[in-house]
Amino acid sequence: GQSNAPDYLKGLNPEQRLAVETTEGPVLVLAGAGTGKTRVLTTRIAHILATGKAYPSQILAVTFTNKAAREMKQRIGILIGEGNVEGMPWLGTFHSIGVKLLRRHAELAGIKSDFTILDTDDVVRLIKQLIQAEGLDDKRWPAKQFAQMIDGWKNKGLGPADIPEGDARSFANGKGRELYKAYQERLQTLNACDFGDLLCHPIRIFRAYPDVLKEYHKRFRYILVDEYQDTNTAQYMWLRLLAQRPEGVGKSANVGGKPISPLEGEMSGRTEGGASHRQAGGTAPPSVASGDISPSRGEIGRSSAETRATVNICCVGDDDQSIYGWRGAEVDNILRFDKDFPGATIIRLERNYRSTAHILGTASHLIAHNEGRFGKTLFTEKVAEDDEKVHVHAAWDSEEEARAVGETIEAYQRQKHNLNDMAILVRASFQMREFEDRFVTLGLNYRVIGGPRFYERMEIRDALAFFRVVAQGADDLAFERIVNVPKRGLGEATIRQIHDTARALRIPMLEAAAKLAESDELKPKPRAALREVAANFERWQKALETTPHTELAETILEESGYTDMWKNDRSVEAPGRLENLKELIRSMEEYESLRSFLEHVALVMDAEQNESLDAVNIMTLHSAKGLEFETVFLPGWEEGLFPHQRSLDEGGRSGLEEERRLAYVGLTRAKKNLHLWFVSNRRIHGLWQSTIPSRFLDELPEAHVEVAESGNSYGGYGNSYGGGSFASGRGGRQNPYGASRFDNVGAEKSGAFSNTYATPGWQRAQANRTEATDRNWGSRSGH
Ligand code: ATP
Ligand code: MG
Repeated sequence: GQSNAPDYLKGLNPEQRLAVETTEGPVLVLAGAGTGKTRVLTTRIAHILATGKAYPSQILAVTFTNKAAREMKQRIGILIGEGNVEGMPWLGTFHSIGVKLLRRHAELAGIKSDFTILDTDDVVRLIKQLIQAEGLDDKRWPAKQFAQMIDGWKNKGLGPADIPEGDARSFANGKGRELYKAYQERLQTLNACDFGDLLCHPIRIFRAYPDVLKEYHKRFRYILVDEYQDTNTAQYMWLRLLAQRPEGVGKSANVGGKPISPLEGEMSGRTEGGASHRQAGGTAPPSVASGDISPSRGEIGRSSAETRATVNICCVGDDDQSIYGWRGAEVDNILRFDKDFPGATIIRLERNYRSTAHILGTASHLIAHNEGRFGKTLFTEKVAEDDEKVHVHAAWDSEEEARAVGETIEAYQRQKHNLNDMAILVRASFQMREFEDRFVTLGLNYRVIGGPRFYERMEIRDALAFFRVVAQGADDLAFERIVNVPKRGLGEATIRQIHDTARALRIPMLEAAAKLAESDELKPKPRAALREVAANFERWQKALETTPHTELAETILEESGYTDMWKNDRSVEAPGRLENLKELIRSMEEYESLRSFLEHVALVMDAEQNESLDAVNIMTLHSAKGLEFETVFLPGWEEGLFPHQRSLDEGGRSGLEEERRLAYVGLTRAKKNLHLWFVSNRRIHGLWQSTIPSRFLDELPEAHVEVAESGNSYGGYGNSYGGGSFASGRGGRQNPYGASRFDNVGAEKSGAFSNTYATPGWQRAQANRTEATDRNWGSRSGH
């Protein structure tokens, strides 16, 4: 009964408790944001350990990020005492667990256990070699693109033999399959693997060596997965293999009985040093090593007599928070759980413990606009008299937006709120720059989570290096960074020669390079390259006196070939990097000269990024998944930014729905205070654009939302909106769906909201709009 339940179970609601205590058999917790899914997982592990059902090493627990894994370990320790956790070797991300598995059984995949994991750059370089070796033009068939195709196949668990005919034919005149195969063979020779292999190799091994799989069936008595809605097909296959075991194997001995002896369990599960696969005998047959895994879901999904058995797997997730479709995640995985695991207990949690009624009401109303969803009820008992509605603010442009957010943060600070409890969640990473700059000016601590800070990004550092050499020819560090960017065929030997010359003559590297370019010490190719570099910098340095610095900056990036380098780059990151570069140029406008701009950057770069410091959190919406904050700021709710143009162009309805789920994730991160912003002018892709408020704003419920009164900082606001309509007076740019209730925002400082709501046609207008939306945006081409 409740009274003698252990402490860690007290305070759980009945459904949560059911999810924790139903340790045997498959369990799915399908529930909305903030309902305690992660808490259930944590408590469930604590419960399994505390009742002696398994040792820490017999629990396989998958989290979405390494940070989440660390937090989970910590929380388990708090629940049952740190001494009882003794590390959880198999708690981590799919990748981190995959590495561990593969190190144990590497030989079975044709590599050695000290294999290297290649990063994206390595992979691309390797593929480029292969493309050239095939005698193909690597400009026509870019290595980056093929690297992404391979990644996509691996996300689906497809080896060279499994890829669809069409796919194989679409690259390199039909040589796609051979290239993929050659790539896998090359990896093997190099004793290396890529990220996709960390999942795909174990899948192959499990399939080809049932004895190995059996060891893990014995070992992992309990499997737990957080954020199940974002698993991709390969992750799903991997889980299924581990979870679906022949009758009897790994079935807990203690169903309805006394707890097993942990020692006994540990012994039977022990497979140190890969003893088991040696037993399995021989080396891997070539088909396994070169990547033959069946992609057929039907096959793994088959519930034959062999596979029908108790599986102690517990997955938690929320179909409304599936936001990684663009990376191959399959929300279907969560929706078909009960078919995959017959007899699954499905638990719904409906009480949200995180957010106020206004925040929850807003989020629920928004997500209801999606069609492809399970649908669920959410309620909260967190209702207090002084709960604030969700605030929607308007600003003239992104600079004013950053200023206003900064002021609001300072106001909260004066009310004794911690900066740590506040977060700014952006749709696109280029948006961070304005906030970072503003906070440095204000002396407000901030940290960027899940990625480098704006000025620390690779492309920004590269660009800054060019500018630094132009502003200050003796900046050798900067020079060295970009002398061979984009690649000009300057090898290490040449760079060393530049170094030596510079040291010998006590001159900066740039000067040394210019000298070498005129001497005959170098081979013709590097000499020509150096001559170009020297000439470029000489020209730019001269232009510094005569050309406006932003214009010059743009010229530098163009003439150096740097912008083109990213334009020709087919990786997923490339468009974001180009956006960042544009944002960099834009930010320079605020400074008088290149030099004063570089000074400012140096100061920003110097700002401390310290975990223990009280600091505002800045991150993208994608990396905010699973987190929660007292106060959340969501800037940039404008068409084209959020929903993002790219996803509208590419995805039609499904792209839009994924954006809406992202909005839902954003809104539901807030516990108490939630502020949304939209601006009427934003520079996107380097061009000033009048922007239209996000359609998502129109999808928020009036009852829970308040359009902020414009303060002094918005003086002249009504004027700037020219008669108060977004649809008119904007250089002919039309709001594609006609009426928006935000059209009037700013025109009338108060009551704009209720006025538009009172218009009987509003609901109709909105209905029309949804259709118009798909037509208008679906066909728009990208920038
Ligand atoms: P998300 O979908 O965003 O990942 P979630 O469902 O995983 O959310 P949790 O992060 O586990 O939700 O919980 C949300 C908040 O509610 C946390 O602060 C958690 O401690 C709290 N919480 C969960 N269950 C309870 C409970 N029974 N009593 C009090 N607080 C709870
Ligand atoms: Mg969670």
